[in-house]
Amino acid sequence: MRGMLVERLGAPDVMELRDLPVPQPGPGEIRIRVEAVGINFADVLAVAGEYLTRTRVPYTPGMEFAGIVDVLGEGVSGVQTGVRVAGLGGTGALAEYAVVPAAGLIPVPENLSAAQAAAFPVSYFTAYHGLKTLGYAQPGQWVLVQAAAGALGTASIQLAKAMDLNVIAMASTEEKLELARTLGADVTLLQDDPDRVQKVKDATGGRGVPLILEVVGGKRFQESLKMAAPRGRVIVIGNASREPAHLQPGELMKRNLTVTGLWLTSLMSDQEATREAAQELAKLVGSGKVTPQVGPTYALADSARAFQDLMDRKTTGKVIIEP
Ligand code: NDP
Repeated sequence: MRGMLVERLGAPDVMELRDLPVPQPGPGEIRIRVEAVGINFADVLAVAGEYLTRTRVPYTPGMEFAGIVDVLGEGVSGVQTGVRVAGLGGTGALAEYAVVPAAGLIPVPENLSAAQAAAFPVSYFTAYHGLKTLGYAQPGQWVLVQAAAGALGTASIQLAKAMDLNVIAMASTEEKLELARTLGADVTLLQDDPDRVQKVKDATGGRGVPLILEVVGGKRFQESLKMAAPRGRVIVIGNASREPAHLQPGELMKRNLTVTGLWLTSLMSDQEATREAAQELAKLVGSGKVTPQVGPTYALADSARAFQDLMDRKTTGKVIIEP
């Protein structure tokens, strides 16, 4: 089968299209014929060797995908071949076939296309946990969404609006802000607007924002603390700037702020939190209230370009690769 292979870590063009053996499912595993792969910022960081966990080479990237159940490994029950599923695994999806543990399967609402299903698991579970599980968002509250036109950003705006929150969306270009407004953002701000801190205060009646989904990091992390309301929560989800961030405990103490880290991989092992998120998300997606935003779509052979475009901030919605 055709698949992408990384033999040494580095920039996206270290990935090569190769002829690879079709993977065989072991006990408790399922083989999927991959239809669409969702590309996350984490995939780019993993290929660069800069992710939260160590990347072992050689490997085939791709953690999030949708496809058709092909072969069941020993001991797998309750799953039918020929059915479309979404999968969330460690690696291996950038290929014609991928093997995933049965526990990594996510049922797909019937109203989603393969690309929409591949755009769903990482961004929507992360957004849900940021807003609800760790953010304790309440209807009528303000939330600040950074990188608002990206995969996580668009999911966060949609979910926040479905939860009756007021959204301040930040992004780097007017076109990106236009997308955020289309999805329901109440206030939009250019990431480099020189008056952004004051404008956030003004929009929130002078108090600041009670909940901030922080994905940029570096200097922007300190700025998020300035934009937060007293007793506000900053949920640290990403560090797209790849710059170090500094935290002064005194600044948290003075305004009773909370900084909470969020990593979806470790939250997925919390079965209760995952079940609750899955139920709520299934209702919202099934009813059409939220629709995964499919971004630019690339062929498998163009995977490196897809990764580079994501890193260069050229994309909106979820970048998709179709093997
Ligand atoms: P996106 O589709 O949001 O793409 C990344 C976006 O980040 C860019 O479009 C850009 O938007 C913004 N950005 C800001 N600063 C930079 C920079 N210096 N370099 C590159 N991009 C920058 O990607 P994802 O939805 O996959 O991820 C968004 C963030 O959320 C990432 O930080 C990612 O690591 C994190 N994340 C974390 C998870 C977790 O479990 N902790 C799960 C999912 C995502 P703009 O041009 O508008 O600034």
